[in-house]
Amino acid sequence: MRIVVLAGGIGGARFLRGLKQAAPDADVTVIGNTGDDIHLFGLKVCPDLDTVMYTLGGGINEEQGWGRADETFHLKEELAAYGVGPEWFGLGDRDFATHIVRTQMIGAGYPLSAVTEALCDRWKPGVRLIPMTDDRVETHVAVEIDGERKAVHFQEYWVRMRASVPAHAVVPVGAEQAKPAPGVLEAIAEADVVLFPPSNPVVSVGTILAVPGIREAIADAGVPVVGLSPIVGDAPVRGMADKVLAAVGVESTAAAVAEHYGSGLLDGWLVDTVDAGAVERIESAGIRCRAVPLMMTDLDATTRMAVQALELAEEVRGA
Ligand code: GDP
Ligand code: CA
Repeated sequence: MRIVVLAGGIGGARFLRGLKQAAPDADVTVIGNTGDDIHLFGLKVCPDLDTVMYTLGGGINEEQGWGRADETFHLKEELAAYGVGPEWFGLGDRDFATHIVRTQMIGAGYPLSAVTEALCDRWKPGVRLIPMTDDRVETHVAVEIDGERKAVHFQEYWVRMRASVPAHAVVPVGAEQAKPAPGVLEAIAEADVVLFPPSNPVVSVGTILAVPGIREAIADAGVPVVGLSPIVGDAPVRGMADKVLAAVGVESTAAAVAEHYGSGLLDGWLVDTVDAGAVERIESAGIRCRAVPLMMTDLDATTRMAVQALELAEEVRGA
């Protein structure tokens, strides 16, 4: 079975661990979000690609969900001693090596997709990880600070400001001109099922879908497209997804997110058991829906979620 997953960082990566266990023989292609990418200290940092790579490759800091295990921060301290920041972005010594290798390869002319493949040669994530595009896309967030409207980089909004002010708009700058990376459209066309893990619907999955051609390819693939709600009990399980959902005019409920993707894209949607009351509304929007436990508390629970998603896909296919 060929499975395509559109993934952000933590939610996507953790789900993928369960999916690998649920379908050990499947051929899994992950299309990763690169809208969160940022240049720091002259280095290109791809937080979502790295979270997927480290999580599936066994290098992740488990408690944190991002960054390397067994990490130290000497380099960052030395940079700070020179007054060189930003200090709000946590880059550890081990992690720095990844960004140095990536930046060096990009400088030598390799596209991000080839660089990602090279990095994965070390980590062996057990999936094919492809960035959504080799072109530069940077998510910016429009905020109001001291009565003045300005756009900040997504990481500045998310990490430095902790999404503490309302977001007026979320713009994937560069997406309109971006082309899907080599292999993205092919993987979608050859897929037996497409999954949206419980990743951020706006700044992770939404950004991937903003690359021209990807949404259309998924809608036209003629295969089941099934998603899992990152919103449980009217709030994000983790993080501040409600802030960016509000910016695009979507309420933070499992049903509203399903409707935001829409029945033109989504065939099936899993909501948590606490949101069982939303199943009817979602089904009347033309999206087949089931309420099952959706908390990724451990690998077994996550594996059951992946099994349910694949079962819902088969149900949709048979319908
Ligand atoms: P990010 O790039 O690290 O923010 O990660 P993603 O975009 O992949 O995923 C973030 C989303 O995952 C958040 O909106 C969370 O609500 C959701 N999430 C995290 N843990 C869980 C979980 O255990 N269950 C569900 N249903 N969603 C989760
Ligand atoms: Ca992210």
